[in-house]
Amino acid sequence: MTPFTRIGRILKDGQPGTQVDVRGWVRTKRESKGGFAFLELNDGSSFASLQVVVDGGVPGYAESMKHLGTGASVRIEGEIKESPGKGQRVEVHAKTLEIYGLADPATYPLQKKGHSFEFLREKAHLRPRSNTFGAMARVRNALCAAIHDFYQSRGFLYVQTPIITTSDCEGAGQLFQVTTLDLARLAAKQGEAVDFSQDFFGKKAGLTVSGQLEAETYACALGDVYTFGPTFRAENSNTTRHLAEFWMIEPEMAFYDLNDNMNLAESFVRSIIKDVLAKCPDDLAFFNERIEPGLLDSLHHIVENDFVRLTYTEGVEILQKSGKAFEYPVEWGHDLQSEHERYLTEEHFKQPVILTDYPRAIKSFYMRCNEDGKTVRAMDVLVPRIGEIIGGSQREERPDILVERMRESGLNPDDYWWYLELRQYGTVPHAGFGLGLERTVQLVTGMQNIRDCIPFPRTPKNAEF
Ligand code: ATP
Ligand code: MN
Repeated sequence: MTPFTRIGRILKDGQPGTQVDVRGWVRTKRESKGGFAFLELNDGSSFASLQVVVDGGVPGYAESMKHLGTGASVRIEGEIKESPGKGQRVEVHAKTLEIYGLADPATYPLQKKGHSFEFLREKAHLRPRSNTFGAMARVRNALCAAIHDFYQSRGFLYVQTPIITTSDCEGAGQLFQVTTLDLARLAAKQGEAVDFSQDFFGKKAGLTVSGQLEAETYACALGDVYTFGPTFRAENSNTTRHLAEFWMIEPEMAFYDLNDNMNLAESFVRSIIKDVLAKCPDDLAFFNERIEPGLLDSLHHIVENDFVRLTYTEGVEILQKSGKAFEYPVEWGHDLQSEHERYLTEEHFKQPVILTDYPRAIKSFYMRCNEDGKTVRAMDVLVPRIGEIIGGSQREERPDILVERMRESGLNPDDYWWYLELRQYGTVPHAGFGLGLERTVQLVTGMQNIRDCIPFPRTPKNAEF
């Protein structure tokens, strides 16, 4: 037991008459004419701050009040009292006030309320002290717990796949290279091919773009598994939905077909949103009020209604008949742009959509080929305001077709010998998908920009902190 109490506890269960010791950061100070002051104290344990009444009789009152302001850290000992004011059940009347650290009002960046998110991104070390980022951190945490709960309660094994890898799962060349070679010396030897056998791993290595291929090996032995880890993509896309470093949850299930996969993905998304609605009511009420009006209704709508399911081909027909002037034309065989995805889920169906059976030419080599020879058993889950939040598929379990698809995608099957052996020895139908954590935080909070959905965003030209 600590000698102090977190503010969230006091606001929830604190009984008038109880003596407490509270510690936190001052959000605001209001001095009153009658020789006393109100402090709004926050310690991150709840959205709401604690009102502390400090009267002139508290030792050192005058001196403290001269210096104390927004951002200062303090310790207060006092008594919980019923609050006569609106907006809080209880408050604390201080008996002692100790200052840990002052925050100079001339330079403290979070002095006033209502900073832009762009500004706060440059203060990523202090932004968790703001309402929005405190709420974001608590919602993100609740989501992570809900994700583990969902899989753990269904008997899935949490497996850790490597962060450094030599197989580029998406085959799209978005790998951040990992090397101990002396790049400056190599640059001086221009024109010569790099000898990766001299590199740390003896061949070209990079940061993982997906743990899927390795997760498949465990699914093809243990049945139901999932990964939950950092994922890296050196894609130079400056959008509000892409990060260079993000967290992905990738369940992989033996003996699942695409339909089983869709059922799991749908109940997964609905279940974690439901959990967060239950666990973070104050934070979500804030997002609903200040960030995205209608957010709570839209989340309840997702939880309570079935997702719409249709094929990519059907989706393309709807888009072509929509009469909308899209920036990018819609044509069968091309990947859908975010504007197309959003039209389907936001405007046409007004709820999440699962699109299946994409053209094989635009999807990864490991997706199971359909009989038509033109499409694969892929699925994308599309949600309002974001577009794609999940990408998945039934995996190709037939070795000959898999090899053919690798060649078609410009990959060397020899590099994937272990992945092919899963098909050579006791192959089984299986399926899985990947959910982006930050896009899920975006969905649940209504935050516009994915850079505000992770503590320290990494994007092109930006890795400060
Ligand atoms: P998109 O087409 O939107 O760029 P993708 O098809 O490249 O995404 P997948 O490879 O299917 O993405 O990855 C699975 C999930 O991981 C996506 O549905 C998304 O939620 C998330 N994700 C993918 N790339 C990023 C990224 N750069 N930043 C944040 N999340 C991402
Ligand atoms: Mn995808």
